[in-house]
Amino acid sequence: MNSGAAANLTDPGKTKSVVIVGGGTAGWMTAAYLKAAFGDRVDVTVVESAQIGAIGVGEATFSDIRHFFEFLRLEESDWMPACNATYKLGVRFEDWREPGHHFYHPFEQLGSVDGFSLSDWWLRMPQSSRFDRDCFVMAALCDAERSPRYADGTPLAQGVFENVGDGQSARSNIAEYQGAQFPYAYHFEAHLLAKFLTKYGTDRGVKHITDNVVDVALDHQGFVSHVNTAENGTLSGDLYIDCTGFRALLLKQALGEPFVSFQDTLPNNSAVALQVPMDMERKAIRPCTTATAQDAGWIWTIPLISRIGTGYVYADEYLSAEEAEKTLREFVGPEAADVQANHIKMRIGRSERSWVNNVVGIGLASGFVEPLESTGIFFIHHAIEQIVRYFPGGRDDDVRRDAYNRSIEHVMEGVREFLCLHYVGAKRADNRYWKDTKTRKIPDALAERIEIWKHKVPDSESVYPYYHGLPPYSYNCILLGAGGIEVKHSPALDLADPTAAQVEFDRIRQKADKLVQELPSQNEFFAAMRANA
Ligand code: FAD
Repeated sequence: MNSGAAANLTDPGKTKSVVIVGGGTAGWMTAAYLKAAFGDRVDVTVVESAQIGAIGVGEATFSDIRHFFEFLRLEESDWMPACNATYKLGVRFEDWREPGHHFYHPFEQLGSVDGFSLSDWWLRMPQSSRFDRDCFVMAALCDAERSPRYADGTPLAQGVFENVGDGQSARSNIAEYQGAQFPYAYHFEAHLLAKFLTKYGTDRGVKHITDNVVDVALDHQGFVSHVNTAENGTLSGDLYIDCTGFRALLLKQALGEPFVSFQDTLPNNSAVALQVPMDMERKAIRPCTTATAQDAGWIWTIPLISRIGTGYVYADEYLSAEEAEKTLREFVGPEAADVQANHIKMRIGRSERSWVNNVVGIGLASGFVEPLESTGIFFIHHAIEQIVRYFPGGRDDDVRRDAYNRSIEHVMEGVREFLCLHYVGAKRADNRYWKDTKTRKIPDALAERIEIWKHKVPDSESVYPYYHGLPPYSYNCILLGAGGIEVKHSPALDLADPTAAQVEFDRIRQKADKLVQELPSQNEFFAAMRANA
């Protein structure tokens, strides 16, 4: 079978054809988005193996994911129930400073007063020991386990974006809204999202083939001419998207693109995951992803509608797989007893180039860093937006390929720096693993930035300079939350009038108190949704 003529990309009159190999989160997000962007003007085929499963993790997102659903013109009510999704207001870090301590990285920009960041003012006049509670409304909502929507469905975000959820306005994307902050993201079951997007895509004309790709054929220029499947013959297209996960069947195995490992700076290379059924109507659904520091890494906890997703991310240099699983089971408790563990080896780093000739790797095939800030799906979303933006005109489209590759490199290198900050900036240093985080190599540029941040809180001039999804406020959250690096306030604030800053701190506290009173818990919110369904 042939998925369609190998159409000529230089002829604008012809249908373009894209073959996506792999049907995990990356494959189906890409297929659905390409259909939403180009409709019938692009032929899309997804081939996925029935024998090689998807990775089965990847349940927490960035708040930017709203642009993905909005681009597909999907309302929360269209997809959330189908994916057992819950709301996420940020990441809660437990025990990174010391046992019993927690802080948040919320989806909320940091304010400023008289030209100085509120974090700078906070260092000058802390209202309490909690930077996050004093400077953000969301931290109180996380502590009180509130939903970001009122019981009648009205979003906390109303007024922030005029087109929230109306489904009709011009569609937005991450690039347009880099300065803005939507206040929440989602947790969802990854396999249910892939299933939902399979239907979305196939309803709009995506061809879906269940088969193994057994061979990738290259032409004399090193471009993929076709792929061979076990039972469905040959598939050919103009562009091939490699969504085969860590295997990177096309990008790495067929084209031999080198891999830039981040292992020297981010040593966590293993994970063990559990999907633990729980009666979530009785257990509070925390509106955040929790990352609890452990002896050789950290454990994630992601609350969904009918279960939690959890896993221990660790460095195998410090801990065996058996010890990691034992620790995770003890951490979860009796509910985990009969649940099968999924042990995963992680390839940390990025493909030197993600787009080579007519192959683009998206998802794990392109690159991955440990999921401490839920960046995996963000990387996919960002890559899809970029491939639409730089969609190739023809084989000799080096300018667009280079621009795409630069943007992927920037995103991954920026996130690498941000993750390194979590470890070098954590006060915890109570065993070999945590002591080593203080002396391990970090990117040179980050080391220079940290020296600056000791005297001047992170701002747009001192964080990683290219777009990578993490605004300067995110760096403030980790630096002041994790507590391992001493930061001084600007000397000018000793001379400035603090009245307006005090008003702002008071306003945040009052607003947080009011919202905590008004908003329902997630359990109450979803119970109301079920009752009204
Ligand atoms: P996979 O899910 O591995 O899918 C690969 C696909 O390729 C499958 O459909 C398979 O059948 C197909 N395939 C492979 N070989 C062939 C072949 N020869 N022929 C045909 N088909 C083939 N991201 C987040 O955003 N948030 C998180 O909380 C998060 N947590 C994570 C935790 C861990 C431990 C790990 C490892 C990752 C996490 N991620 C997270 C990342 C996230 O899981 C991935 O980015 C996402 O699932 C995308 O995976 P993928 O589609 O690239 O690959």
